[in-house]
Amino acid sequence: MFDFLKRDITYLHGVGPKRAEILKKEIGVSSFGDMLFYFPYKYVDRSRIYTVSEINGEMPYVQLRGRILSFEPAGEGYKKRLTAEFTDGTGVIELVWFKGMKFVLGKYALNTEYVIFGKPNEFKGKISIAHPDVDRVEDVNLSAVGLMPFYNTTEKMKRAFINSAAILKMQQSLIASVTVPLEETLTPDVLSQYSLMSLTDALRNVHFPESPELLKRARLRLKFEELFYLQLNIQSYVVERRHKYKGLIFRKVGDAFNGFYENNLPFPLTGAQKRVIKEIRRDLGSGRQMNRLLQGDVGSGKTLVALMTMLIAIDNGYQACMMAPTEILANQHFDTIKTMLRGMPLRVELLTGSVKGKRREEIFESLANGEVDILVGTHAVIEDPVCFHSLGFVIIDEQHRFGVAQRAKLWTKNDTPPHVLVMTATPIPRTLAMTVYGDLDVSVIDELPPGRKPVKTIHMYNTREDELYAFIRKQVDEGRQAYIVYPLIKESEKSDLKNLEDGWRKISGLFPQYRICKVHGRMKPAEKDAEMERFVSGECQIMVATTVIEVGVNVPNATVMIIENAERFGLSQLHQLRGRVGRGGDQSYCVLVTGFKLSEDTRKRIGIMVETNDGFEIAEADLKLRGPGDLEGTQQSGIAFDLKIASLSRDGLILNAAKEAAQKIISADPEHKSPYYAVLWNRLKEIKNIQINWGAIS
Ligand code: ADP
Ligand code: MG
Repeated sequence: MFDFLKRDITYLHGVGPKRAEILKKEIGVSSFGDMLFYFPYKYVDRSRIYTVSEINGEMPYVQLRGRILSFEPAGEGYKKRLTAEFTDGTGVIELVWFKGMKFVLGKYALNTEYVIFGKPNEFKGKISIAHPDVDRVEDVNLSAVGLMPFYNTTEKMKRAFINSAAILKMQQSLIASVTVPLEETLTPDVLSQYSLMSLTDALRNVHFPESPELLKRARLRLKFEELFYLQLNIQSYVVERRHKYKGLIFRKVGDAFNGFYENNLPFPLTGAQKRVIKEIRRDLGSGRQMNRLLQGDVGSGKTLVALMTMLIAIDNGYQACMMAPTEILANQHFDTIKTMLRGMPLRVELLTGSVKGKRREEIFESLANGEVDILVGTHAVIEDPVCFHSLGFVIIDEQHRFGVAQRAKLWTKNDTPPHVLVMTATPIPRTLAMTVYGDLDVSVIDELPPGRKPVKTIHMYNTREDELYAFIRKQVDEGRQAYIVYPLIKESEKSDLKNLEDGWRKISGLFPQYRICKVHGRMKPAEKDAEMERFVSGECQIMVATTVIEVGVNVPNATVMIIENAERFGLSQLHQLRGRVGRGGDQSYCVLVTGFKLSEDTRKRIGIMVETNDGFEIAEADLKLRGPGDLEGTQQSGIAFDLKIASLSRDGLILNAAKEAAQKIISADPEHKSPYYAVLWNRLKEIKNIQINWGAIS
């Protein structure tokens, strides 16, 4: 029966090679098992029948019972459609089909009693349902239907007619062919200790719940399993690493560190900076390789921590290297570090794509012979010809733009791996960080340098544009600079750039006296950097941009951040954008511009932004509102996997139980030798193989 789960999805009735390819590409389903583990994202109660008189356009899905009075074709060309009048005696609504009209006309008859199911839409007071499910009353066993599952599908899937109903059919034939129990993926003691349902029952009930209680138990079992393997993976990795990777030992604090501290430190360290530097020092002397994540809100002073810890490496005879995700950021770090180290006998170099020819060769050479103490750069620093004399410490800034694979590449440059510090301004709650970054220790800078004026955040409806522009004019006339950000859904889609282009034209028209630059993700990197530089240098007063400016850029003179269509941004993205201002001594402002019609969630998001500047609070709220499972969340928070059914924020109790279970097994069978646990270790291997592209996601 084990092979059943591994069987290729093309063996499933109704799935040919073409559909199989779409399933694989769009939702990663290529076997029977993958499909059975593709869970519904919601269930709709179909035990209730509504009347036409009580439904409205706000309702999600409704079920009605009645008759079709008439059919009528309507529209021409691409607007061609088939409509029908439907009534249950309490009122009349319209049913609409844009496709398969012949089929509909051939199948459904007038004056026959049907149960229809679909999403009501309201237009000018008239209610319609597009492409409803239509079943003859005698074919619908209402009490058995009960909870109807819904599956996520993509545009491409829908175009190939793989909608939620089609997935449901596939699940149906899969479940029907499970005639003997599937092999368990958890051991009997785990199942009994946590009173978990068997795998077979869980899969059956998650797709076809026999009752709400059984659905709940099915979901519990599947969530537990997901979190359990997550924990088993992380914890066995931690144990392995402890044994495997020896670390360079940096015992000394010498002239570089002390000299800097006594003569060059531009301001007293904050308490949080001091604490974090201590934590890092302890790691560096421990004999194990450091893999530490440094979280600190935007502006919390991570660069200074980076610099001072690099000086410890130098004091112990090693070189240090700092990587940034963009050239602009690398340039800024390089300038900052050069300035801070002024007068000290240390050599700092910059290596990016723009450093070319002889200059580049020179840098390579002096890295190899150990003359360079600190190298700052983009990922150019991990390209092949770069060879360090003795690389001891690596700092990666704004980690989410670097994959785990790139991080690992640094390892190969040494016999003993260098210590690694990853810095990020995308805070995720500490407990969560420990869970998902099990392989990284976590330090937090939870204090801002003194004297910062918190950014004032304002929510404004887009009907008050005049006020908004007057405000921008006032700030710019006082010598400040402003960002205006437009949303992009997919950078590849032209229509999305329209927002930005229209905005740019409008702003240019409104402010002919100012210089305005424009940055978006579809520009060539060099072009983008050049525009960015015009803003950094102060040549331009207003920057019109998409979210490409999200990460790290420091322009202290910029005091205004306008975010257009703020409803289209996630919380952590809004917070990142806001972090671009408030970096100097002047009062800064963040204006969130939205339309009037906002969803409940959007109102909450905007409300949180207006209320607090605390990145951790925002991260918690974000997690609660959205859950870290979805891919956007994955990309933004750098969480390196995609949860299918469990939620780290909502399933805390299950997470703890799973953690405890995993811990027990690792201590009972540290060498993975016991036949009793073999099923777990094998399953873990399988899961890891499937999720091999974790690195690409983070
Ligand atoms: P981020 O954590 O976002 O990378 P930066 O390292 O860029 O923050 O620091 C933001 C600003 O705060 C910089 O201008 C830096 O010089 C300043 N800064 C850093 N540490 C302190 C401190 N202890 N006291 C005062 N200002 C500080
Ligand atoms: Mg920074």
